[in-house]
Amino acid sequence: MDNRITPMTITGVKVNYYFICKTKLWLFSHNIQMERESEDVSMGKLIHESRYSRVKKDIIIDNVISIDFLKKGDILEVHDIKKSKKMEEAHRWQLLYYLYYLHERGVEAVGVLNYPLLNKKEVIEPSEDDFKEMERIMDEIPRIVYGNVPAPVKRRLCRKCSYYEFCFGDEG
Ligand code: SF4
Repeated sequence: MDNRITPMTITGVKVNYYFICKTKLWLFSHNIQMERESEDVSMGKLIHESRYSRVKKDIIIDNVISIDFLKKGDILEVHDIKKSKKMEEAHRWQLLYYLYYLHERGVEAVGVLNYPLLNKKEVIEPSEDDFKEMERIMDEIPRIVYGNVPAPVKRRLCRKCSYYEFCFGDEG
């Protein structure tokens, strides 16, 4: 199997960006990266590194998906660590993508979104409808990535986005 990452390769981050911003999805998929790392991203990395020290973190599967950590029980738990619930829908679908990816390879699992700063967890049990919707999203992501760059739409979240200068830098 060829596991090279191409603009077509669908990763959890791309599924996340599909929900956050199509422009961001396109830029990221074409390996356009900006130097400035947002405070949110830095804080997210710090939480990721400092919490859950007793578990093995960052499990990479097929060089395509990167799972924060796994727990084995009656059913496998796929855990994702997030800073806040602001992007909850995107977080949920990113985790559902991991569950779908494993399901397609014969591994059934549930997802757990961990919000350590809020002391909250959310368990995600995927349904057949979730997996059908994921297939639709997986068809749509390559269409976006191989099309023209989607026009940026300014929203509150743009101020914290590393692509802000790229999208709106000439607006002063
Ligand atoms: S600055 Fe806004 S429009 Fe541009 S990529 Fe980021 S979120 Fe999308």
